[in-house]
Amino acid sequence: MLTNLTVEEALEQIDAHVSPLPEQTLTIAQARGRVLAEDVISPIDQPPFDRSPLDGYALMAADTAGASRETPVRLQVTGTVCAGGCPAGPLASGQAVRVMTGGMLPAGADCVIRQEATDRGTETVEIYESLRDGANYVRAGEDFRTGDVLLSAGTRLDAAAFAVLSSAGIDPETERVLVSPLPRVAVLCTGDELVYPSVHPLPPGKIYDSNRTFLTHRLRELGIQAEPGCEHFMDDPALVAGSIRRAMEWADAVITTGGVSVGIKDIMHEVLPLLGAEQIFTRTKVKPGTPAIFAVAQGKPILALSGNPFAAAATFELFGRPMLAKLSGDPRLDVHRATAVLRGSFSKTSPGRRYIRGCYADGIVTLPAGHSSGQLRSMVGCNCLVDIPAGSGPLSDGQPVQVVLL
Ligand code: AMP
Ligand code: MG
Repeated sequence: MLTNLTVEEALEQIDAHVSPLPEQTLTIAQARGRVLAEDVISPIDQPPFDRSPLDGYALMAADTAGASRETPVRLQVTGTVCAGGCPAGPLASGQAVRVMTGGMLPAGADCVIRQEATDRGTETVEIYESLRDGANYVRAGEDFRTGDVLLSAGTRLDAAAFAVLSSAGIDPETERVLVSPLPRVAVLCTGDELVYPSVHPLPPGKIYDSNRTFLTHRLRELGIQAEPGCEHFMDDPALVAGSIRRAMEWADAVITTGGVSVGIKDIMHEVLPLLGAEQIFTRTKVKPGTPAIFAVAQGKPILALSGNPFAAAATFELFGRPMLAKLSGDPRLDVHRATAVLRGSFSKTSPGRRYIRGCYADGIVTLPAGHSSGQLRSMVGCNCLVDIPAGSGPLSDGQPVQVVLL
């Protein structure tokens, strides 16, 4: 097992030991938020017919030559087409068809005049403007044509993508597409001291769990299917190993918290061998969360994080997200960085690499009060981790820093 890796070396190991999950075929509705793994081709032209973009009259541009308010051209109105209707027949020279926005244009027409530039006549119409061929004329297929790549592989299925598919007559409820996989993650928290927040009064020596709540909801925020991997919190190696084994029947990855350090109840060092897991690394040169362990069992990654709530949260972002990005092939899940200017200061020196919570907006990062890895409350409202390089002195106002965006 490797030890004392830098964050970057640890990430290389994660990348080397995690294999992408197979792509999945799902209905489009089920695949919302996923990334397409194939191109989707349009079966139709959109719009399907030549149509009017405004309320007016379809006509021939040549008939409007020289028209103005002073010298209007008078045309015979041969019909009306509203959106959803069809013209009765083709248009001849000297004729106009009243047409509403979205209405199909008659054959023979080559432009549309807005009704404000006419007398809005019903039998005949006076035209007050001269138009060029093609004015206000939307051609079939203006948006896309039959056989066009509507959405290419790599596109995320968001609301706009759904709308495009729908506009091509591809029903999200029934049509299926090949998409990136979405890992299912089991979250297991160890610790004899932990109880559910439903337990009242709090027994002496116990604390309420927050990691299990944090990680399941953080994963779900990222669009991942996350479920608790055990009923009870415990520090019994055999029971924890049994829970992980059962969770691995449905989960693609397991994230645990607690029990990775050097105390007598730091059971993960016993649990992983019980699972026959290959332990890839432990102890990275990072604070908080130094003792995190990365292992693989039955081809599935297990990330065992420190139990301190901020340590678990920070190392989930640093190591868990790249693990999920590799499993899913979805780069959105990976770590995203930005450069920022620090507002405020941080008085500790950082002999080793350190991440602290911060709030990033418009290139500025502000720091909350309270940076201990057991402190949780100051995480509320934070949206980044400030990445402090090893060997840094105190951070001062105005200093440029790197941040990891949450
Ligand atoms: P451990 O990593 O098991 O040594 O735990 C480190 C610290 O984090 C201890 O103070 C634990 O009580 C606390 N802790 C561990 N797991 C949790 C959890 N799920 N929720 C809140 N605090 C935790
Ligand atoms: Mg513990």
